[in-house]
Amino acid sequence: AKSEGRNVYRFFEPGMDAMVRARRALETDLEAALRRQEFELDFQPIMNIASSEIVGAEALMRWHSPARGLVPPDDFIPVAEEIGLIVPLGEWALRNACTVAAGWPDGLRIAVNVSAVQIKSGTFARSVISALAFSGVPADRLELEITETVLMDESDTVLKTLSQLRDLGIRIALDDFGIGYSSLSYLRRFPVDKIKIDRSFIRDIDKRDTAAIVRTVIGLGAQLGITVTAEGVETEAQLEFLSREGCVEAQGYLIGAPSKAADINPLPKSRAAI
Ligand code: C2E
Ligand code: CA
Ligand code: CA
Ligand code: CA
Repeated sequence: AKSEGRNVYRFFEPGMDAMVRARRALETDLEAALRRQEFELDFQPIMNIASSEIVGAEALMRWHSPARGLVPPDDFIPVAEEIGLIVPLGEWALRNACTVAAGWPDGLRIAVNVSAVQIKSGTFARSVISALAFSGVPADRLELEITETVLMDESDTVLKTLSQLRDLGIRIALDDFGIGYSSLSYLRRFPVDKIKIDRSFIRDIDKRDTAAIVRTVIGLGAQLGITVTAEGVETEAQLEFLSREGCVEAQGYLIGAPSKAADINPLPKSRAAI
């Protein structure tokens, strides 16, 4: 190991060497984590604002590493994407989320986050179809949340895959809407059923300009026949604004934090029941 270390020093600065080794260790741990079943899903409820009913939940991945503790998805998903692990990991999430949702009352939808790497893998449509068949969840109860990066390149492959899934009745949601570069042009080119307004807009909804943007996105959704969901709703004032402006759905700590499936299985029918 000593001579290896010396070799590395010839190519990297000392600080760089430490970074490279930390990164390698993270990759090794991540690869082992799937085998060791260290991943779990939490579920966060999504509410229809007009009826105050819970209409579904979003699956959010959690890594409980014995060595590192609870690692947030923003820290490990990008690494899993770079080393290709996101493909089996994403398949696991899809299958697991659908299996849990199969036990929910009729009509409640399950939303699953999907990374660009998965959609471009070529096996994606097949793995979605297999997760539905395995769990018995009907296609119209599954929602796939994608971000702009999914739509950025290879748009032909992506468009074909998304259209194929949509033909089965699966819904496509555009996540983190508004923070990207050309969200509007994607709405024109890709079949989208839902947009999720990024939580940074909801956080600043009491500012005049941000309020105007949110109001406009809600109007845009109404005109295009696209469901608009507000993310990161934390206060009654934010929910009141969204309700007044006709936003269809809300998600955030005010409605419910992500929690174990058992806590929300079956999901409460309305906020009054929480
Ligand atoms: P996202 O898809 O935008 O998920 C929403 C994030 O906002 C979640 O963070 C959630 O816990 C958090 N959140 C929900 N309500 C509130 C609120 O009221 N206030 C605030 N401040 N935050 C709220 P989380 O669970 O840490 O996930 C972070 C990101 O990791 C997700 O962002 C998503 O991009 C990614 N991710 C999570 N699970 C998966 C997965 O299974 N596959 C893929 N590809 N990405 C995932
Ligand atoms: Ca999401
Ligand atoms: Ca989001
Ligand atoms: Ca995000």
